[in-house]
Order: sequence, then structure tokens, then C-alpha cells
Amino acid sequence: MLGSSRMATELIPKANAMGYSPDICSYLTADIGAYLEKVSPLAKIFEGIQGPPKPDVLVFNTNQCRDVQDWFNFYGEEYDVPVVGVHSYVGVQEVEAAHVKSIARQMEDLIPSLAHVIGNTFDMDRFKETVALSRECSELWKQVLDTAAALPSPLTFFDGTTLMGAAVVGRGTQRANDCYRTLLAELNQRIADKEGAIEDEQFRIYWDGMPVWGRLSAHAKMFASLKTNVLASTYCNSWIFSALDPDDPFNSMARAYTELFIVRADAPKEAYIRNMLEFFKVDGIIYHDAKTCPNNSNCRYGMPQRIERQSGIPSLTINGDLNDLRLISDEQTKTNVEAFIEQLAENK
Ligand code: SF4
Repeated sequence: MLGSSRMATELIPKANAMGYSPDICSYLTADIGAYLEKVSPLAKIFEGIQGPPKPDVLVFNTNQCRDVQDWFNFYGEEYDVPVVGVHSYVGVQEVEAAHVKSIARQMEDLIPSLAHVIGNTFDMDRFKETVALSRECSELWKQVLDTAAALPSPLTFFDGTTLMGAAVVGRGTQRANDCYRTLLAELNQRIADKEGAIEDEQFRIYWDGMPVWGRLSAHAKMFASLKTNVLASTYCNSWIFSALDPDDPFNSMARAYTELFIVRADAPKEAYIRNMLEFFKVDGIIYHDAKTCPNNSNCRYGMPQRIERQSGIPSLTINGDLNDLRLISDEQTKTNVEAFIEQLAENK
């Protein structure tokens, strides 16, 4: 929200002054900057809400990066509340039983400290119900994203980045699942009516890496003007957890969070992207090299070139950032994207 409301860029230097480098995650620096400045986009949208609530406990998982742990440690100190978490594997080739066992054990070990914080005992039935709802949410969200395989696609990546909100913060609730059922019905109707998300779709693009939150609208309009639909992404698919199983909640959570794209080595990542290119009938790939997120910028170790060799599908890398608009050149992005689409047109 700090990124898409374009508040982040001015807030990041406040965290930099506290010792958090401008080179680390700009979610972290923007959020800490907002806390220090006592501002929040929530206050603008929801009457009576000044910002995020004070936590009783903070729970992290390092499966995406170490930044989340550091981020939560800041709030742990500020609010004098416990910070607990799970330390995950990274660069995983095959997800093996030993990985699952270790992560599941770490999750189970959180129970006493969390139960102590809430002054209650752990309710296994409620936990299983929540995992069942999360699995259902995951299935529905996958079905939503898969509608983009239709010709023309009824959905864009830019729609997906906001529609995924329910899966990100509401996963495990009935409301999130109801929301996706409504959305799915609308998308299926659009497919039946052959109603594309953009007019006269000519080119289909896969987006890898972080969105540029402060440019969602600008990018959506730029691609639409080029009759190009950016329709599928690694990012929006990060909230699909097909391994979740309410009958085996700890092991299945451990498996789901270790199978995630961001945790994997390059070979399984490349196999995943190749499947996506085929399923969504993609003409080209755009990699976003986000300056402050090396963890989710997959273009730095030769992956674009390898995937192009394997699939024959060309790619473009754009430099930018998820939140820090000082790291973005709109002109350069536009010039590079236009040239890339011209190249796709010549190849058709
Ligand atoms: S994966 Fe990237 S954007 Fe996400 S928390 Fe880590 S550094 Fe930040």
C-alpha cells in the first residue's frame, strides 16, 4: 500500500537514517519510515484507523529472505513484544523429507510461546479448519489466475497484484473464499463472452519478479496501448499452496512453504517458468530486476538466457524497484518495452 500510494519513496530515507541501508528491501525501509513518521495509507482509506495495530507477537519465516526477520525485530524492540519464527532452507533443488520434517518441527515448536502470548491453549480442530480454508483459498486463487490462459485473457497481471490481497491477508477465512468465488464467476463469464482484459490482445507477456507498485496503473496503460497483455507472473502465483492438507497440517504447511518458487534453486525455477510459458501461451517474458530485492529478481545469474535457449521465447529485463521510485526510469522502461514489442511483432 505504501508503494502503490507512492508514499514509499519519501519515507525510505527515514529508515536509512536509522541504519537500514537504501540497498535492502524497500518494503522494510518504507514501512519503518512510515512508522517513524507516524503515517499510514490505511488512515486515508479507513475512517478511524490510524495504521497497523500494535502486535502482541511477531512471527516470521525466512523462506523469502532474511529481511522479514530484521523487519520484525525492529517492531519487537519498539513494542517490547516477542519475535519468533521459522528459519527456512533456500536454493532447494528437490523438496525432501528432511526439509519438511525440520520446518514442520520448527512450526510445532512455536506453539508454547504463541499459546502463552494469547493466554489460551492450542486448538487443533480450529487449526485444521483454518488450514482447510487456506487450501480452498489457494485452489480458488489458482483457478482465478488460470483464467488468464484463455484467448483473449480476461485478466492482467496488474489486476492480479491487487486481487491477490484476499489470499495474502485473508487466507484461512471464509470471506476470502467467497470473494474469489464471486470473482471466478465473473472471469468465467468474460471468457464465455470472449471479453479480454485489454482491447484487441496481440501479444501475451509473462512477468517475473516484483511489480513496480507505484507504476501499476502507468504500466497497465502502457502495455494496453501496445495491445499487449501482461497476463501471468511468478509473483501472483506465490499465494498458491497446493500442498496444504488439513489432515496433516504441520507437514503439509512445511511442504507448501518449501515448494515455493522463491525458496528453490534455479533448475526447478526454470522448469516452473517453462511450464507457465506453455500453459499461458506466452510470446515474451519481462524480468524485473528490482534493485532492493535480489531475492525475487531472477535475472542476475543467466536465467533469462537459459530460458530463452530452452523455450525459444525472448525476454527483456527492466531495471527498477518495487517501492523506491528514485530507482526507476520511466522513459527508459517505455523505450525498452516498445522496442521489445516491436521485436515480438517481427517474430510473429
Ligand atoms: S522477498 Fe524481496 S520484497 Fe519480499 S520481503 Fe524479501 S527483500 Fe523484501
